[in-house]
This record gives sequence, C-alpha cells and structure tokens, in this order.
Amino acid sequence: MGRAVVIIDFDVRPIRNPMSELDRREILNAPVFGKVFTDHMVTLRWDAERGWHDGRLEAFQNIALPPSASVFHYGQEIFEGMKAYRQQDGSIALFRPERNAARFNASARRLAMPELPVDTFVRAVELLVRQDRQWVPNGDGTSLYLRPFMIATEPTLGFTLPARSYLFCVIACPASAVFSTRTGPRALTVWLSEEYARAAPGGTGAAKAGGNYAAAFLAQREAVEQGCDQVVWLDAVEHTWIEEMGGMNLCFVQHSADGESSSLMTPALTGTLLPGVTRDSLLQLAGRLGLGRNEGRINVQQWRKQCEAGLITEVFACGTAAVIAPVGRVRGANDEWTIGDGRPGPVTLRLRDELLGIQYGRIPDDLGWTH
Ligand code: PMP
Repeated sequence: MGRAVVIIDFDVRPIRNPMSELDRREILNAPVFGKVFTDHMVTLRWDAERGWHDGRLEAFQNIALPPSASVFHYGQEIFEGMKAYRQQDGSIALFRPERNAARFNASARRLAMPELPVDTFVRAVELLVRQDRQWVPNGDGTSLYLRPFMIATEPTLGFTLPARSYLFCVIACPASAVFSTRTGPRALTVWLSEEYARAAPGGTGAAKAGGNYAAAFLAQREAVEQGCDQVVWLDAVEHTWIEEMGGMNLCFVQHSADGESSSLMTPALTGTLLPGVTRDSLLQLAGRLGLGRNEGRINVQQWRKQCEAGLITEVFACGTAAVIAPVGRVRGANDEWTIGDGRPGPVTLRLRDELLGIQYGRIPDDLGWTH
C-alpha cells in the first residue's frame, strides 16, 4: 500500500468552549485512567486514491461511521500508547515518540494497513499535546496518556482484500501512576495462563492490534478471579515458555551460579510478543547499573527453580502505563511461589528511578530520549 507521500498538514480548529479551568483542575488532581479526555483530538484520513489527507486538530467528538465500516466486522485496528511528561521546569516532553511511530508502522504492515510517515505521526501527537498542554498534570507519577490509533472505515463486508479507506486519530487523557501506593510501587501477583494463548508463531503478537487485546480479556478475568493482578502469557506451542504480560513485558534479575555476575534477562522478541519501548530502554539502562543484558528465554519450571535457588531474585513487568511494576508472587493452576521476599527489590527500584528520572527531566538525558 506504499505510495509517495507528500508533506501532510493539519488544519487547526481549536474549540471555543474548552473545559473550565476549575473543572479541569479537579480532574487533574486525581486522574482516573482512560475516562476523561482532553478538549481536542487529531484526525487524518487515508484512501487509495488520495493517500493521507484531511488532517485536522478539532474538538474531541464522536466518530460517525456506517455500520458496514469494515473495522466493525473484521477488527482491522491498531493503536499505540505513549505519554507526555511535565518536566521539572514546567515544559513538557514526549519519551522516544519515534519508537512508537516505528512500532505503529510495523503494526500497520502486519494488518495490511497504510503506513504513516514517522514525522507525521510525531507531529500529530505534538500538535495535540501543544494544544491541550494545560491537561498535562504535574503531580508525582502523573502524565498525559496519548492514544494514537487507526481503523478501517471502508463501508464493505467484503474481506478478500484489506479495506481501501482508513482513519488515523490521536486522543489524550490525564493519567496517574498505575500499581502504585503512596510509598512506591506495589508488588503484583501474576497468573500463569496455561489454558489460553495470546499469540502464535505467524500471528499478530508483535503488532499492537486491538484483536490481541479482545482475545485476552477472558484470561485477564480468570486472573482476577484467581486473586491475581495480571496474566502472564506462555508460548502457544509448548505452553511453557514465558512471553509477556497483558500490557507489559517481563524482566528477570538473574545471577550466575558462581555469584560473579548478574544480568537483566527478558524474553527475546520471537515475533509473538510486543517489542516494548520501556523494555528496550531498560535493556540500555541495565548496562549503566553494571548489569549484563540478556534477551533469552525461560520456562515456568526454570522460573520457579531459579527463584528457589536464589538465582532469580527479582522480576518486574515494564510498560508505558506502569513504567516498572515489581512481581512478588506467581500463581498457576498447580503451582505457586514467591520471588525474593515478595517485595520490590533493589535493582527494580533503581531502574525505575533511573527511567522515571529521565522521563520527568530530573536526570540529564544523555541518551537523547526526551523530545
Ligand atoms: N506488551 C503488551 C502486550 C503491551 O500492550 C504493552 C504496552 N504497549 C507492552 C508490552 C509494553 O510496551 P511499551 O513499553 O512500549 O509500553
């Protein structure tokens, strides 16, 4: 679907009646994730004849589509999740937005949707953040969560070929820290999903496609019924290799048997898990803490045995929403164990401080990650 792309401009149409400062402040004081959205959104359309066109910044509003629009039937939808952070000096920064743009395009390729030039993606996000900058909260751990997404809009039930028209849209909502308490992150209990699988080889696991999440709700509900916070997905072939969590990648602090070296191990990108931006950032930061980095693999038995032998002392989940969430306990249908003493460990907390420090501008960003 590639075609020569011209520079895409956005028609900026700010609304005349934004939310009152008083109402906005009340929301920003205690943001509840994903419920209240900022005053504006950005939209951009694509069709086979014109390519990308009709870019706008306009009021946050309903999208009108015919019931025959193909997204309603075949789920051709992809999205991204990223944040704008209020810096110490009051300015606002995005974190590695071009990584989200690149992943968005990787998802688009897998779902046979048109790619969006990286700078157009970043410009669309910037435009919304700039317009709704007063919606970026400044409380500890808070941010403006950004949700770029794309849907197939062609009014057809035909499914021999991908849709011939699409809508790209960016919306934003204030967010506070997830899985956190007043004193820091809380350790999660996780559920090993041995019955359901998230992604099979050749499937869409590496894409951020809505369908992957639709297929995960049943297991997530099972996890909650088992008293757990999140699902750990296992590979779809042998049902034993650890892949990732519902919306986060997993990292293991692993020590060599002779106690000489420690490393940050995370499951390799086999094509069935999402390449997290946080995961990639932490692999890079691990070296600074004197940790080796290892993109490897681990199965359920090894995870349990290495915890018992003291070779794995910490495990955490990482992603944009929660940054780093320590994992304290693992539960499966026939198995249950604790990681370390069940509380957030020192490496976890140190990596979390480093990353948050860069994102909020408290630590100089010599990696060029803030934008
Ligand atoms: N895995 C899945 C399935 C996710 O939905 C996410 C969130 N995007 C992640 C991992 C973490 O990715 P990131 O660090 O880019 O937020």
